[in-house]
Amino acid sequence: MPRFGFDHSYARDLPGASVSCQPATVPTPRLLYVNEPLAQELGLDPAAWRGAVGDALFAGNALPEDAQPIAQAYAGHQFGGFSPQLGDGRALLLGELIDRRGQRRDVAFKGSGRTPFSRGGDGKAAIGPMLREVLIGEALHALGIPTTRALAVAATGEEVWRDRPLPGAVLTRVAASHLRVGTFQFFAARGAVEPLRRLADYAIARHDPALADLGGMDEGPARYLGLLRAVAQRQAALVAQWLNVGFIHGVMNTDNMAISGESIDFGPCAFMEAFDPAAVFSSIDHGGRYAYGNQPHIARWNLARLAEALLPLLVDAPRDLDDEAALQRAAAQAMAVIDAFPGWHAQALRQGQRAKLGLQVATAADDVVGDEADDALARDWLALLQAQGADFTLAWRHLADAAEGRDAPLAALLAEPAALQPWLARWRTRCAQDDLAAGLTDPAAAATARAARLRAVNPWVIARNQRVEEALEAATDHGDLGPFERLLAALRQPFDERPAYARYAEPAPPAVTARYQTF
Ligand code: AMP
Ligand code: MG
Ligand code: MG
Repeated sequence: MPRFGFDHSYARDLPGASVSCQPATVPTPRLLYVNEPLAQELGLDPAAWRGAVGDALFAGNALPEDAQPIAQAYAGHQFGGFSPQLGDGRALLLGELIDRRGQRRDVAFKGSGRTPFSRGGDGKAAIGPMLREVLIGEALHALGIPTTRALAVAATGEEVWRDRPLPGAVLTRVAASHLRVGTFQFFAARGAVEPLRRLADYAIARHDPALADLGGMDEGPARYLGLLRAVAQRQAALVAQWLNVGFIHGVMNTDNMAISGESIDFGPCAFMEAFDPAAVFSSIDHGGRYAYGNQPHIARWNLARLAEALLPLLVDAPRDLDDEAALQRAAAQAMAVIDAFPGWHAQALRQGQRAKLGLQVATAADDVVGDEADDALARDWLALLQAQGADFTLAWRHLADAAEGRDAPLAALLAEPAALQPWLARWRTRCAQDDLAAGLTDPAAAATARAARLRAVNPWVIARNQRVEEALEAATDHGDLGPFERLLAALRQPFDERPAYARYAEPAPPAVTARYQTF
């Protein structure tokens, strides 16, 4: 079998954080999908995976020669309840690669069989959810949103029992790392301070190397507070990006939140069609905990759990763990980071919304405080979309047409097209002001430039539920990967209006949207 050039820093640097484990052997492995652009990024040659080699390799029957598979331990809050031990119940880290840009990336299986962390589970995965992970990962990536991505999917030839027997599959996932909030919780819950410190140092080396030099060895607390702040800022930006494309992760448990700031473990996820902040697609999320509009609050809640886990590292010295006043000081510093989160998130959201509105110049001197008028413009736009049942993605997209003087495509998305005009007039006034501030004096040229900017940030194609579902169904029920491949091609060019992809841009009929659940 080929060598991948793997390193194994996780197992080497973090004893007690994982266990060695081999993937299950499967009856009839068959490679269904290889992500060629991602393979290139990783410096791997997909030509070496043709035929039986690739089938065996990506189903787990024959590993890369230099793989050393491990299951990682982690804990986590699931729907608010804490489990001190979750861990990779159906995943295995094969190793780490240094990619073409010098970044360390994890290569891991998902669905490769039972591990010591499987509890009652079978350790397996079905083709449908694995192909969904491919589609969503590539869609987010094409939209410029940090995400884990699939390198390959292989069918196993085995039936996996869910509510009915389903064809089994193994996904190969690439991630900046698989460090989760729950990884920190695992050691914190055991009072294992030195392993926790090693984990934090490992995370810093991997994701925030600039912090490693912070004031030398004595400045531990500053370093770990810096880690908390860096993770919080990445999440603030990530969730803002999700909101600005209408993405709902679906299961933002603390074990599904990555320290790297990548989107990860988006199982029952979906892109929203008609704008509704209460939108939920997961059948197990009865309370709407992970609804679209609740995601910033949940991110902050999860970060508070990370802060708690890091607390032993935030005191000045280990002996201070018995010193109530020192602990209080450390907790106050951590809380200051958590309290800063909403501001960071609001700023990231505002910057994204400003671009989506085609504006270039902030009117407020202090962008953290922001401009109340711009915030109100965005808020009222979203309120209009909600009241009018408008498709979120197309409404933003058709602002480009409106910028060119064609209001009809946008107006047609509203239940009452006339309701658009008051808001549109405000937007046009703000656009004229923006053009002046940017020094654009020719209105026609400014309009053309605005339309081009709008089309570069507001996608035409997103992974609409109906299209994802039809692609997964064809693959699951008929072994037909055609719809999956065509949808994937469209998702990789989300900003291009190609006639051949028109069916992927169309909103689903409301009756279809209403009964849709991803999990
Ligand atoms: P998730 O909600 O998918 O992020 O998974 C939560 C936990 O359940 C993790 O520890 C997973 O490894 C584990 N898990 C999920 N599905 C399975 C399965 N089919 N077999 C064993 N463990 C699983
Ligand atoms: Mg998970
Ligand atoms: Mg999972």
